[in-house]
Amino acid sequence: MRNIFKPSGVWAMSCAALRRIRGTLSFRLTLWYSGLFCLSTVLLFGVTYLLLARSLQRRDYKELRGALTEYRSTYQRGGLTAVAAEVAERGGQTEQLRLLVRVATATSTTLLLESPPLWKRRFAVTQLETQTIPDEKQLLRIPTTNGDEDILEVASVHLPDGRLLQVGKSTHEREELLEQFQGIFIGVMGPILLVSVAGGTVLTWRALHPLRGLTHTLHAIITTGALATRARVPSTEDELAELSRLFNSMLERISLLISGMQSTLDNVSHDLRTPMTRLRGMAEMVLQTETSETGLREALVNCIEESDRILTMLTTLMDISEAEHGAMKLAKEPVSADDLITQAVDLYHDVAEEKAIQLITSVSSEVGFCADRNRMLQVLTNLLDNALKYTSTGGRVTITAARDGQHFLLIITDTGVGIPPEDLPHIWDRLYRGDKSRSQRGLGLGLSVVKAIVHAHHGSVQVQSTPGSGSTFTLSLPLVALLSS
Ligand code: ADP
Repeated sequence: MRNIFKPSGVWAMSCAALRRIRGTLSFRLTLWYSGLFCLSTVLLFGVTYLLLARSLQRRDYKELRGALTEYRSTYQRGGLTAVAAEVAERGGQTEQLRLLVRVATATSTTLLLESPPLWKRRFAVTQLETQTIPDEKQLLRIPTTNGDEDILEVASVHLPDGRLLQVGKSTHEREELLEQFQGIFIGVMGPILLVSVAGGTVLTWRALHPLRGLTHTLHAIITTGALATRARVPSTEDELAELSRLFNSMLERISLLISGMQSTLDNVSHDLRTPMTRLRGMAEMVLQTETSETGLREALVNCIEESDRILTMLTTLMDISEAEHGAMKLAKEPVSADDLITQAVDLYHDVAEEKAIQLITSVSSEVGFCADRNRMLQVLTNLLDNALKYTSTGGRVTITAARDGQHFLLIITDTGVGIPPEDLPHIWDRLYRGDKSRSQRGLGLGLSVVKAIVHAHHGSVQVQSTPGSGSTFTLSLPLVALLSS
């Protein structure tokens, strides 16, 4: 049984492999290349064949007309005998007469008929006596008696005395030459076919090499998960090299995003662990020590407040991470600095009034830029919130918006407590709070968000501060980058 089924199994496998090969792009390209190559060769041969046939026909026609003119003048000089003598002489010169010469009466009775020895039997020469001459420029075509392809082409002219002079030539020579040409064509077509298939295969193989490299890299990534694998970029500067480069940069970007997400997850879980532990500890302690309903209620309120803090913290941490890793979606639009500042000032007007802080704005005429309005409002409110928070009663906070060449500047100055020099390098870090600030509400995330959002807009933010006198935060956004990105 096994022996009977084995060949059919092999056959099925071969068929499947053949189907697979037939479906490949390489196979189709090779087929197209070879097909087009062969077709153009056949066309070239075909056109050459036609041109050759036409030129041989013209040569024969010219020869007939030339001979006709010569025999005609011979006839005019010496009559029938002179023509016969010249035919005999020409036959002797070439050792073989190559033309048929006939002189006939006006009623087409043959007076002289000279031709190569076999022609009289080979061609139906008697037809010459019966056929009417249509036009002197046209040739009479006499077939062979045995049905061969050769034809006797005969040119005719009327002599001045009314007689008819005819000169004929067989197409045999011409046919033989064309047949030889056909033979050569058939002979070279085999090697041409082989060369075109081999050339097509090599060219396709080489052209698709980068694509195979990409497929190979993708397979490696899918099977091993090694995202660090990169495709080899060909040294050429063609479309496939571009595709390989783009493919590699796409992998680069995916790796960056994945590592960004990973570090976001690590940071957020690390930063949330402390407040979550604190919340849990608080709930546990209340559960063990508190028995009165009022005390328990109070503890629950504290827990809710702490949970809210944690939720805010989570959202802010996610924002920071997204902005830092380029994953933050920015809905950029034209933003008027005046509108933005007015909106922020409206939000903090009451706070400033409560602390009797003077809130001054200065916007040089029509300063506008392109950015995510809500994110920029978040930046401005964070800086304004800090300025008001760290400025004592009776102080002053100034917001200035101006254009400096190709940059948009937003400057927030306060007359507050200022920042000690040792704190300055750390104020941008996540969850960092200055010692003096402990008494104030805050998560230590405000400036981290500011920096991350400004960087996501390709800008920068700087601080200058003198303890006891106040601080100035200067935000700079490149106008060109903002408009183009
Ligand atoms: P916080 O919630 O503590 O305000 P931020 O990230 O906004 O967190 O600020 C980090 C630290 O920078 C603050 O704790 C404070 O010490 C300092 N700081 C920020 N803005 C000012 C300011 N305008 N004046 C003085 N200190 C400031």
